[in-house]
Amino acid sequence: MQIIKSTKELQSIRRGISTKIGFVPTMGALHEGHISLIKKAKKQNDIIFVSIFINPKQFSANEDFSSYPKKEESDIKICELCKVDYLFIPEISSIYSQNEVLIKAPNQSYILEGFSRPDHFNGVLQVVLKLFGLIQAHNSYFGKKDAQQLFLIQKMVNDFFINTQIIACETLRQNDGLAISSRNIYLSKEERKEASLISKSLYCALKIISKNEFDTSIIKNEMINILKDLNVEYIEFVNKDFKEIKKVQLKNTIILIVVKFKTIRLLDNIWV
Ligand code: AMP
Repeated sequence: MQIIKSTKELQSIRRGISTKIGFVPTMGALHEGHISLIKKAKKQNDIIFVSIFINPKQFSANEDFSSYPKKEESDIKICELCKVDYLFIPEISSIYSQNEVLIKAPNQSYILEGFSRPDHFNGVLQVVLKLFGLIQAHNSYFGKKDAQQLFLIQKMVNDFFINTQIIACETLRQNDGLAISSRNIYLSKEERKEASLISKSLYCALKIISKNEFDTSIIKNEMINILKDLNVEYIEFVNKDFKEIKKVQLKNTIILIVVKFKTIRLLDNIWV
């Protein structure tokens, strides 16, 4: 595996590759969820690029940018074990320049994850567009766990005619259903136990829907009953165009949930 730190070096290496490239962008602190994306990429492509970049532009002032987990050494080992070909770990200064052209995310970026962080998805799209330009992968892998991000990246790819196929990957979970996340390590033992209720509430929603109950307020109430005293930031129902809906539409609904444990926000969702 070759570690690349500079954009110039990356561009030069990229020019020499003519086989099928798979790309997995990450913010590091790699876990089984990331590994599942890398494994899928490995199966479907000849050469694999993984990037690790904690993107400052997608964190707002009061968020955890400086304390976001950094595990470069173990990340490198994991990528080696996964037989990644190129690991791109750029400096912030090599990605961003002063007074640069800015991407503006569409309306669907100001709800849910963007509601209290209006610049979050502008920052995500800005860096992902740069990474797409640098790596020019045939296939790029993103988790359904970050459903709104996945939707906006797919939309950017469509709107800007970017030549990469977005591959949506299933959410990897712990045995008790908790979606794997870099932030889970910050939970206390008690919180970790309670966090399993998040996925339980989503599976309960699926069960209710399977009995032909499509009213989102009834389903939401049942979910809240399961979540008991947890600090639920939101439970929302959207269609695949990320418009909020009042009635579940089969094969066209995503139920999204965020639960907060102190300052830690745990995201999860389920596709109906
Ligand atoms: P991050 O490092 O958090 O930016 O995540 C990098 C990629 O991994 C994103 O496309 C995420 O959606 C995806 N991802 C994160 N957690 C999981 C998980 N538990 N299962 C599958 N994909 C995940």
